[in-house]
Order: sequence, then C-alpha cells, then structure tokens
Amino acid sequence: MDIGAKEIELIVREVLAGINWNNPPAAFIPAQGDHGVFEQVEDAIWAADAAQRQWVNDYKVEDRRRIIEAIRSMARNHAESLAGLVQEETGMGRKEDKIQKHLAVIDKTPGVECLITEAISGDGGLMIEEYAPFGVIGAITPSTNPTETLINNTISMIAGGNSVVFNVHPGAKNCCAHCLKLINGTIVENGGPANLITMQKEPTMEAVNRMTEDPRIRLMVGTGGMGMVNALLRSGKKTIGAGAGNPPVIVDDTADIALAAREIYLGASFDNNLLCLAEKEVFVMESAADELIWQLQQEGAYLLQTDQLNDIMTFAMTTKDGSYEVNKSWVGKDAGLFLEAIGVQNKEVRLLICETDKAHPFVMVEQLMPILPIVRLKTFEECVKSAKDAESGNRHTASIFSRNVDNMTKFAKEIETTIFTKNGATLKGVGIGGEGHTTMTIAGPTGEGLTSARSFTRRRRCMLAEGGLRII
Ligand code: NAD
Repeated sequence: MDIGAKEIELIVREVLAGINWNNPPAAFIPAQGDHGVFEQVEDAIWAADAAQRQWVNDYKVEDRRRIIEAIRSMARNHAESLAGLVQEETGMGRKEDKIQKHLAVIDKTPGVECLITEAISGDGGLMIEEYAPFGVIGAITPSTNPTETLINNTISMIAGGNSVVFNVHPGAKNCCAHCLKLINGTIVENGGPANLITMQKEPTMEAVNRMTEDPRIRLMVGTGGMGMVNALLRSGKKTIGAGAGNPPVIVDDTADIALAAREIYLGASFDNNLLCLAEKEVFVMESAADELIWQLQQEGAYLLQTDQLNDIMTFAMTTKDGSYEVNKSWVGKDAGLFLEAIGVQNKEVRLLICETDKAHPFVMVEQLMPILPIVRLKTFEECVKSAKDAESGNRHTASIFSRNVDNMTKFAKEIETTIFTKNGATLKGVGIGGEGHTTMTIAGPTGEGLTSARSFTRRRRCMLAEGGLRII
C-alpha cells in the first residue's frame, strides 16, 4: 500500500493527539542535561520551554528578584575564577580587567526594577501597559566577553520572565558551560526551576539555524560580529542585534590633553582593547598632536616607529581579495607579545601607539588589539569626516575630548552613535566608572541601544473602560 505525505501527516497528528503530555512515553522524553548543558539543541529548547512555563506560572516577580540577587551573590564570589577561566580558554585579554567586567555586569545589570507598569487614568477609564515575557529567547554570545555576556543576558532576560537557550562562541564553550551550570545550580538551590538557561554542549551554526527555525523560540538576540547579526536578521525571526563597532576618538585644540591621554590610555588598554566600545583610533588636531602623543607615553604607552608598525602589520593583519582583515590569532593579545615578535622586550607595556594616515588598515578595520593609531589633521571638520569614515556607519560608540560645546554637539550629531562619551573613557559610557547601567549587548543595528530587562519584553496593554476603579 502506498502512503502519501498527507496520510503520514494525519497519522502523526493522531498519534500526537493521543499522548498524555503530563506522562509522555519514553520516546518523547527529552534527554537529561547536565545542569542546563545538553548534547542536542532540541533538548535544550524543550527543557528551556518547560522551565519558562513554570517561571511565569509558578513564580512571582518577587521570586525573580530574590533569585537574581542569589545569582549576583554567587557570581561575585566566582568573578575572579571565571575571569581566569575565560583568559585561559580564549587566550585573549587581561585577567584583572576581566574581573572588573564581571563585577560590572553582576552589580550594574538591572533586574525586575526596570519593569515598571505604566498607567493612564482618565474619563475613558484606566489603561495599564506592562512588560510581558517573549517566552524562550535564543542568545548568541561572543568570544570577547563570553561569561560576562552570559551573566548579563541571563539577568536581563529572566528578569523579564523569559528562559534562554544560549549558543556560545565555540572558542569559549567550556568557561560558558561552567558559568551556565553555576547559574542553574544557584537558581535551583533557591527554589527556582531547573534549566531556566540552557545550551548545546558543542555550539554550532546548525544549532543556531535550528533555533531560528523553531517556533518555541520567540526572539533571537545576537551579540558579536556583523556576519552573525546579519544572518539572524535574514532568518525572518524577530531579532535584537548587537554588532561590531570601531569607535573613533576626536581630540580638538581646546581639550585638556593630560586628561585625554589618561582616559584614552585607560580605555584603549582595558582588556587589551577587546571591548566593542573601546577606543580604536584617534583623530587629533595638529596643534594638540605632539602633546597628546607625549602625554600618552607618560601614561605608559609605547610609541611604534614606522618600520616597527610595518613589521607588526605583516603578522597582525591578513589580506583577502585586496582588503585587510585581522589575524584572529593576534586578537586580544598583550602589547608585550607584539613587541616581542618584533624583537623588543617590554612585558609591562599595556598599549602601543603609532602615527598613521587616516586610511591606514589599523584605522579602518576593527582590530581588537592594544594598538592605537593616531591621525593628525588640520581642522575639526576633517576630524569629524575621518571619524565618520572609520566608524563605517556602525553607529556604535564614539568620543570627544574638548572644552568647546559646539564641537561636542556637532560631532555627536554627525556620528549618530548609540554611545557618545565626552571627556572620559568610553568604558564610562557602559557604566564602568560612569553613570548608568551596564550591558554587554549594545544593540545599535536594531535600535534597542544599551539593553536591559525591558528590551527583552513585549509591551502589552490592558484597558478597563467605563471609568471603573477610578477614585475621582
Ligand atoms: P563573532 O561574530 O566571530 O562570533 C559571535 C557569535 O556568533 C559566536 O557565538 C559565533 O559562533 C556566532 N556566529 C558567527 N558567525 C555566525 C553566523 N554566520 N551565523 C550564526 N552565528 C554566527 O564575534 P566574536 O569574535 O566572538 O566577537 C567580537 C565581535 O563582536 C566584534 O566585532 C565586536 O565588536 C562584537 N561585539 C559587539 C558587542 C555589542 O554589544 N554590540 C558586544 C561584544 C562584541
């Protein structure tokens, strides 16, 4: 007997309809994970979906607050060991700075407190708008802030009533799995549901595709390079995309140069310049250039000569189809290692600086290395134009050192970045040493900006008509 696709579909439907899902047959029970870490992404989605239903049905907002506080407290105790594990596995960045990044997301990622119900009461009745969960969120995380993004996304997303299936960067899968298990352990110890955050043990592109195709995943959140963000946007699934930056800094002829050097040195050397929002190139007005370079050297920066820069270019960059790309094996390495490779011994140095022209590959390509090109230009207008070219329309982060309010305003308007810092390291724009909350997911391309719990919720309205419940 021949059976067509239609008949097979009908048989499957009948079988599925007859199953008691409260006590399903063994074939339908998903594999058990290891504290949220699963072999197959399907099981990770199944478990996160079940956990999310419990999270919204069986727990109050106060439980969310209490459990998030427990996660913060556990993560604070592990900040140093997590920073060490990330540094060891990825081979990028500086442990002491990674501890600071962990503490920033632990202490300054907002929780349920930012989900404030809005109400309007008038002659037409009472309207409330509330922040409701999406459901299960699929989150892609980068190698540059792996566990920091995992902690930050977890707090923001579960505060909003969601569960999360992570696809972490393959180069950071072990530290992320360890961190995810610690968080799930804390949630369960504090009476919360198992598997509120899950991941496939071996992250793959195939798993990302399964996530975008699965109807139970209601939102994708991608933090990383533009290739990944664009792939998610093309998938057709609702996406929050946090992509690449290449933040320019302008130092004009009114700036406090000592302050500029101190802050640029702090930001550009932090974690070997791995942060997407770190200062990546400087455009300085001619009259301030010599002093800025001298002051940067006083801070500890090493000034590369032209031949030394050319030597570094030969291994730190590669060319493909005539355009430059970073050599990934040099991303986030210590400045001292670059010097060692060109025959200079200086292990203590944190930042290399060099003078280049405005079209140099170190200016135009987001290199994520502790090498800061400095371009001297005659006018402020040239600085703005070159900064815009280098930022390449990412609209991510930019900064200015100036005492001229007109210049500050002009650059901010032209560059249109999500984060704009004045007279301070760009780190301060993400709450590290500055005001405002911290996030590791800065969603420029899709417009949510510096994400928090509110970004991962749906606004829903309830309208009570006829003036009911009003007291005037
Ligand atoms: P990456 O793009 O190589 O990887 C990020 C994640 O995307 C990884 O999990 C990777 O496995 C996945 N991925 C890569 N290509 C994909 C594709 N085609 N489809 C689906 N998934 C894919 O980035 P990285 O090297 O880990 O991180 C550095 C980059 O991330 C830099 O460009 C940096 O500016 C950016 N970043 C942005 C933010 C932000 O908040 N905007 C934060 C951190 C990092």
